[in-house]
Amino acid sequence: MQVRDGVSVVSRPPLRAWALVNAHLIEGNPGGYAGRGGVLIADGRIAASGPDVRADSIGEVPMVDAGNRTILPGLIDCHVHLTWSAQASPVATLIEERELPATLALRAGANALAALQRGTTTLRDVGSPNAVIFALREAIARGVSPGPRVVAAGCVITTPSGHCHYVGRHATDAGSARDAAIAQLEAGADLIKVMTSGGLHTPGSDPASPQFSVEALRQIADAAHAAGRRVTGHATCDAAIAAAAEAGFDSIQHGSNLQPATAAALARANVGITPTLDTRHFLNLHLDDPAIPEVIRTRARTTSLNRGDAYQVALDAGVTVTAGTDSGTTFVPHGALPTEVRLLHAGGLSTRDAIAAATWTAAREVGLAGVVGTLAPGASADLLVLNGDPLSDISALEDVALVVLSGRQVSVGDDAAWSRLP
Ligand SMILES: [Zn+2]
Repeated sequence: MQVRDGVSVVSRPPLRAWALVNAHLIEGNPGGYAGRGGVLIADGRIAASGPDVRADSIGEVPMVDAGNRTILPGLIDCHVHLTWSAQASPVATLIEERELPATLALRAGANALAALQRGTTTLRDVGSPNAVIFALREAIARGVSPGPRVVAAGCVITTPSGHCHYVGRHATDAGSARDAAIAQLEAGADLIKVMTSGGLHTPGSDPASPQFSVEALRQIADAAHAAGRRVTGHATCDAAIAAAAEAGFDSIQHGSNLQPATAAALARANVGITPTLDTRHFLNLHLDDPAIPEVIRTRARTTSLNRGDAYQVALDAGVTVTAGTDSGTTFVPHGALPTEVRLLHAGGLSTRDAIAAATWTAAREVGLAGVVGTLAPGASADLLVLNGDPLSDISALEDVALVVLSGRQVSVGDDAAWSRLP
């Protein structure tokens, strides 16, 4: 506790060095040690890792014996909407709560904490009101509010009545598209998110049709790249995916209806895809719920949402795949990333590649390569301790013993497995 101007100020305790010992460090993390050993953490970063980080070799540094559990980098979710409720009709709630920014911020904060406690230490929000999500990002970074590291697009760029227009900055042609991108960058966007096609959640928008010309998309991509930012496009039809790739986008979200020729073009241009398989998975569990808006139920029953097929096409073409949940949309809970990784594995990725999609590959996608997503010395000490080995059983990701964010242990709840750690 500090006192400034006669007022007590609560601040986080200073970080001390500590170590996790007697663990198995997961294979594959770039630049990081893999195998039996430990991790030394100092100043919020990984200071050292390897077989020499042992109880009898690290001196007075406090340590936690991991009991031969598995350590891997904290998970990274490439597609989240923290301000969305994950109930039957999140759009209706969002439209109502846009007028209540304090309520919306508290909702987003609670959702962020839920994701962190389930092992997501970095998440990318790709569609939330600017004022709310940028404020939450800063509050978390300053230690005011508990939560994972947030990378935020803020408002999406869409047409005036297009997909997610209720959380959008609107554009109609190349000039207004460029202006919208610049306005988002000036407002504090870490990346630009564009609705390149219509979408499931917006009646009146057509998921099977592009919303922008290639030239409009190119103006957005050029503005983002000139500012050193990435640009990603929601795209649920092949024509919109192809247009985004031609315009220089870095990645595609969903990618429904991807065709082989376009997939080959994505692979050649190193444009990744985040298939968001969770959306259909969770929606299917609740499809008869009468509270689901009819437009969503109807569209979900058509093949236009068949992201599983598109995912296969992407894998066959060798497109880079990253993990994103679309948490916050209809019945997709916040913190559902282990489920998404499980679905990516079930659909064809090896356990190692599915884990990569939510760690080191995802770090590149969210613009934080080397900063997170690895156990290499110098990286932020964002890591998970799991009771099982996800390389042999991917469901081990759902049995989290300990979450560490920037070198600090995160409480994961009374019933969590971490209390069983010795
Ligand atoms: Zn989304």
